[in-house]
Amino acid sequence: MTVLALAVLAAGCGRLPVATDRQEPSTARPEASRSADETGETFEGDIRLAARLGEDFWRRRFAAEGANYRPLREFVPYRSQDGPACGGEPALPENAFYCPDGHFVAFDEPWMRGMYDRLGDASAYLIILHEIGHAVQAQTMSQYRLNVERELQADCYAGGALGSLVAERRLGPEEGDDEELLVNLAAAGDPTDAWWRPDAHGTAEQRQQAFTVGYNQGVGAC
Ligand SMILES: [Zn+2]
Repeated sequence: MTVLALAVLAAGCGRLPVATDRQEPSTARPEASRSADETGETFEGDIRLAARLGEDFWRRRFAAEGANYRPLREFVPYRSQDGPACGGEPALPENAFYCPDGHFVAFDEPWMRGMYDRLGDASAYLIILHEIGHAVQAQTMSQYRLNVERELQADCYAGGALGSLVAERRLGPEEGDDEELLVNLAAAGDPTDAWWRPDAHGTAEQRQQAFTVGYNQGVGAC
């Protein structure tokens, strides 16, 4: 992934790239981390790396403004129906979420692993950084009237965190990652622009745009 390619792709894509059933392993290999369990070359390693670097980015960002980032208590993998409840609501299958009541992120692990295998390792970074974005919103007391606004800001935060980590060379993306990111965002887009719905996340184009703004301009633009 290069910043330029991402910007060009996002600005110029009338048609999105089509997801293919690629079986190759991940393409992005972070250069910074060399520990055995966090190489960024396995699903588990990418999840851990995304979580650690994502939170580290926000810790530094908060500190730069004289504030304290409150680290998440946990990243909880679950299987389909056995997820942790949040505020009395059961965890949904095929989902990832931030729970303000408990301050943790949880994700359906087989579902996420399936995306990782189908759509590439970018999916792990997108989802984890997006959910950390919700944790940041909880700490900055972001107020939104519409769910879609909250969701697009979390996409923008994910792009901003990723762009900064790449610029700092703490993550070393490789060719094809930009397409992966856009395909992942498109796959997560709403089928219609029903922005008023309480579960609206934004269309494929809106999600790509929000992410790209963050990626190219930083989280301050979110
Ligand atoms: Zn979200």
